[in-house]
Amino acid sequence: MVGYVIIGNGVAGIKAAEQIRKTDSDNKITMVGEENYPFYYRPQLPGYICGSVDEGKLWGKKKSFYADNGITLLLGQRVINVNDSKNEVVLSDRTVINYDSLLIATGGSIKSRKYPGSDLNGGIVQLKTIDDAKNIKERIKNAKNAVVVGEDFLTLSLAEALNNSDIGVTYLLRGDRLWPDVMDKDASKVLEIKLREKGIKIEHETDIKEIVIKKKAVQGIITTNDVFLECQIVGAIDKLKPNIGFLGDSGVNVSDGVLVNNNMRTNVDNIYAAGDVAQLSNDRGNDIPKINIRWLKAWKQGQVAGANMTGNDAEYDDISCISSTQVCGVDLISIGISNPLNGGYKIMRGDYPHPEIDVYKKLVLKNDTVVGALFVGNVLEAGAIIKVIRNKTKYSEIDETLLKQMFDFNYPKSLFRGFMCPVCKLELNISPDAKVGDKIVCPACGIELKVTERMLK
Ligand SMILES: Cc1cc2nc3c(=O)[nH]c(=O)nc-3n(C[C@H](O)[C@H](O)[C@H](O)COP(=O)(O)OP(=O)(O)OC[C@H]3O[C@@H](n4cnc5c(N)ncnc54)[C@H](O)[C@@H]3O)c2cc1C
Repeated sequence: MVGYVIIGNGVAGIKAAEQIRKTDSDNKITMVGEENYPFYYRPQLPGYICGSVDEGKLWGKKKSFYADNGITLLLGQRVINVNDSKNEVVLSDRTVINYDSLLIATGGSIKSRKYPGSDLNGGIVQLKTIDDAKNIKERIKNAKNAVVVGEDFLTLSLAEALNNSDIGVTYLLRGDRLWPDVMDKDASKVLEIKLREKGIKIEHETDIKEIVIKKKAVQGIITTNDVFLECQIVGAIDKLKPNIGFLGDSGVNVSDGVLVNNNMRTNVDNIYAAGDVAQLSNDRGNDIPKINIRWLKAWKQGQVAGANMTGNDAEYDDISCISSTQVCGVDLISIGISNPLNGGYKIMRGDYPHPEIDVYKKLVLKNDTVVGALFVGNVLEAGAIIKVIRNKTKYSEIDETLLKQMFDFNYPKSLFRGFMCPVCKLELNISPDAKVGDKIVCPACGIELKVTERMLK
């Protein structure tokens, strides 16, 4: 056997490698990563920019991990071609590596949007990698104001990171809300209130018309409403797109991402895909985003792929589309079809938006079955609702206490308690008798947390 090759040194790749080693301690594993760093916690980058997360806390693995596990790590190398008939991958320096079993775990890339003036690249930033974060940290030193434009949560993360670094942030939304893939207008309002409280200015239905550059540095932008906004940093981010460009000769079927079944198998026998690059065949409906960007999903899919690469028959059985994040202290979880784009759905959502309580929760039903949910500001019941959706439970069969706790503000909150792991964003349940100061270990990423008052609210 010539061994396993994993393209991508992110969470999906690393979890696959760990899983392979659990059953196969002998055969060679080669990991190829374009970035020059060992595995790190990408969702911690906003914290790293503003200084709340030290560089030391970013690393998910030390370099010694690879050697200790017999993994050959090729960093700073890009795979430029995969040839399935020869079972080989070609690297950017033309090295050829053979494989018996191959995992594509290349995640996605974001691109800065193009505007007049933007090709000079003076102060235009994006946030996907450590190098992006380092670049932003550097630029912040000489900046007072920033303008960001972009619709999904990576732009939200960037806006928050800049705001937490004492930069004045104006957030331009081309449409009428934040993160339209998962949020309706009322949900967006709840989050917008929080962002404004933190000092972020938000403009709807506005885009950048031109970036004003002098002496190779950004001086400001002109909006589509012809308003000049002085700024030294511009973050103009397009949606993340799966990295599949090197698969042209591979025989692997792709659509928006690499098409896989629930075993993370592609159409080619010995080629698998996992994480942000993978597109489950049942994600192809029109009511949810086709590509689901999620740390924990990449983690679980990496494990499934790794198990199957060693001859097992593991299955990824989670709901195909969940997004969870935290922005400006607001927990946010969207599950399944949270913002249907077509008709035929019924929305259940109590008395919202509530004038006093800054949370928003809703369930989405199709033929009385719960197919989606959205939690903004409070995710206590998200874990329980994930089970409801996974089990295809009818609305009329849901535990009444759960619905009361979600939708009735006067109901004493005690039975369903949860919060989001700050590292891997897993929805963690807290037992009803938990007290402030109790220790909780996240079963996914292993981080140790202490119960705070906020978690018990
Ligand atoms: C700022 C930020 C905040 C985030 N916050 C959250 C959050 O709150 N909640 C959440 O669930 N998710 C969050 N995410 C998303 C999460 O990080 C991703 O879902 C997760 O990292 C996906 O893991 P992956 O292994 O599939 O891909 P990645 O982590 O993208 O890793 C893929 C790796 O493959 C490498 N690669 C790509 N092409 C090639 C090639 N041709 N050859 C060799 N190597 C290649 C890339 O350089 C990269 O290192 C955030 C992401 C960012 C950037």
